[in-house]
Amino acid sequence: MQPFEYQRPQNAQEAVNGVDAAHAKFLAGGTNLIDLMKQQVELPTRLIDIKRLELAKIEEMPGGGLRLGALATNADTAGHTLVRQRYPMLAQAILAGASPQLRNMATNGGNLLQRTRCYYFYDPAYEHCNKRKPGSGCAAIEGFNRIHAILGTSTACIATHPSDMCVALAALGARVRVQGKGGERVIEFADFHRLPGRTPEIDTNLRADELILSIDLPAGPYAAHSAYVKVRDRASYAFALVSAAAALELDNGTIRSARLALGGVAHKPWRSDRAEAMLAGKPASQQSYVVAANAALEGAKPFEHNAFKVEMAKATIVRAFSLAAAGGDKA
Ligand code: SF4
Repeated sequence: MQPFEYQRPQNAQEAVNGVDAAHAKFLAGGTNLIDLMKQQVELPTRLIDIKRLELAKIEEMPGGGLRLGALATNADTAGHTLVRQRYPMLAQAILAGASPQLRNMATNGGNLLQRTRCYYFYDPAYEHCNKRKPGSGCAAIEGFNRIHAILGTSTACIATHPSDMCVALAALGARVRVQGKGGERVIEFADFHRLPGRTPEIDTNLRADELILSIDLPAGPYAAHSAYVKVRDRASYAFALVSAAAALELDNGTIRSARLALGGVAHKPWRSDRAEAMLAGKPASQQSYVVAANAALEGAKPFEHNAFKVEMAKATIVRAFSLAAAGGDKA
């Protein structure tokens, strides 16, 4: 591991002021960053340890929403009574996301900033990775691409976003509150992560000096009918091949509104406005879910080893909506 400076600021403003070094990084749970440093993928010259800042509360917001502190652990968030009552799909997604040991260390803010688990990104022995080394090419496009994206890819990168939690947050329409040197701002979840385009080295629209303060969940009508379904190679310690966060607002068997986001298929949590619009006003039936699933995967572009993801994603969507309509799995 390359040597680095270590700082422990007393408050958020001091933390933000500390990121003036070109390769400064915030350190919270460290569950991804430290791995990447050991692998020589991330080479920060300064670590700003924010773990002791007062950003770990989970609190109610006016109007029935919930504010998840950026430094609340994934374990505390998934186990929180109000999260389980109001956003059970989020609790399910977090529980599906990692081992208990990792959930005890990993923070909510860090979960949003996880980097892809593309094998070529993680191993500097591979020369061609535009995300790790801009302009070097993409080994995955012509390589082994079983775990890679099928939606929103570019000729520069076909990596997927690894988070489960973020898929549920996308479906729930969360907002991310951040603080930079110039003050606070709010980023809609849909605008937080980026598609790869020509700059896959940039994962999010967070500015270099910005610190995540909280993730704010709006009040919503989806608590009674939501589900998170994750398909993976083994039952634990595995990232999603495909996942779906699905929620329904029902009125006597008719869908008043729907939410759908997918994981494991794109460079960011993939919310499908098209599928949601198709479900509004339709009966809560298998047939409706199949139509929505087809709409959600329209335009999918699989690669040599991941064509199976298209049908898998459709089946996962249908299952998630079926579970949601039946009252969902409770976390
Ligand atoms: Fe790198 Fe993206 Fe290609 Fe993976 S898919 S090798 S992360 S450029």
